[in-house]
Amino acid sequence: MIRIFLAFLLAVWAGFAQAQELSALARFDATASGVKDEAGLTQLRLTISQPVAWRVRVLDNPPRVVIDTREVDWKSVQSLDGQSPNVTGLRAGPFRPGWSRLVLTLARPMAVQAAQMQTDGPVQINLTLGPIDPKRFAELAALPEPLEWALPEPTPLAELPKDRPFVVMLDPGHGGIDPGAERDSITEAELMLTFARELRDVLRGQGVRVELTREEDIFVPLEARISAARAKGASVFVSLHADALAEGEAVGATVYTLSEEASDAASQALAERHDRDDLLAGIDLTEQDDVVAGVLMDMARTETAPRTARLALALETAIKSADLKMHRHARQEAGFSVLKSPDIPSVLVEIGFLSSTADFKRINDKEWRAEMALAIADGLKVWADEDAALRALRNP
Ligand SMILES: [Zn+2]
Repeated sequence: MIRIFLAFLLAVWAGFAQAQELSALARFDATASGVKDEAGLTQLRLTISQPVAWRVRVLDNPPRVVIDTREVDWKSVQSLDGQSPNVTGLRAGPFRPGWSRLVLTLARPMAVQAAQMQTDGPVQINLTLGPIDPKRFAELAALPEPLEWALPEPTPLAELPKDRPFVVMLDPGHGGIDPGAERDSITEAELMLTFARELRDVLRGQGVRVELTREEDIFVPLEARISAARAKGASVFVSLHADALAEGEAVGATVYTLSEEASDAASQALAERHDRDDLLAGIDLTEQDDVVAGVLMDMARTETAPRTARLALALETAIKSADLKMHRHARQEAGFSVLKSPDIPSVLVEIGFLSSTADFKRINDKEWRAEMALAIADGLKVWADEDAALRALRNP
């Protein structure tokens, strides 16, 4: 008997109740999968090793189909790339604990006409994509996430306690579906998680409270990283990266602060790429600007900006004092979305660039990382003391 899970309607929560409790990881089978165009429709056949709970939705700008599943190892799904001109890109990876996400970038808006999981014989997710009016597609893409799936709401400013303890929020860049830069099969995401843990240990050893935006190799949207910092009452936010930079020959640590005007084209490209990675992973940042819009937020930023500038300077001084390699322009500015907290001084530190052979060697060296962690901890300490002193002057 053929058993088919009912097709899930777009953006309607896939019935967990009916889904069997399956904890083991399912594997994707590339050889038994494919994409083909037929009679104006695009058929996707994804074979996996066992049935899993799943759901499908669409997102716009660029048009995408997002397939969320209970853990599926989608490795080699990119081998389906190029099988249909309607699907211009595929990427997949862990999304949130226990869930994987597969994102298909479409050449144009398309309707999900049918979505089924066949469980008789080989387990297959079958999707049929067809033509759709772009306006209708945009409407479907704009449907809100189900409550239990939505991102945490940012904590209102007023709810944060006045005399809060000094808390450092470390933000290991990228993760999960978004590996960041890659070199010799080592990803920026894993290197930065390692470094964040090492820096956390150094800071905790000095009695500083530290939180991480992610503790494992999962995707955390940029907006959720900001929300997490606010929820934990962070005094300062440090995003850690080691990107690849094709533009110019970037080498050495660089401290970035937020600005609408980037220091140079390379910085701007870097910031745009981070936003694009986030977008491709399925999160739309457009609402972020609504959240942080408004006069109050701008006022908060006016107060925060000079504190952030001093933070960047303190970090530059500490890293230089430790005799660690810095970029010839050690402090730079760009429109990194992850730095948009209006009230928390936020910096993005490229501890080096994976595109530089010398930096790559250094970042992979545990001893070098230990020195860098100490330097950053020193910089944070100097800044925290100075910041507290200046605040005391202002509010005696
Ligand atoms: Zn990065």
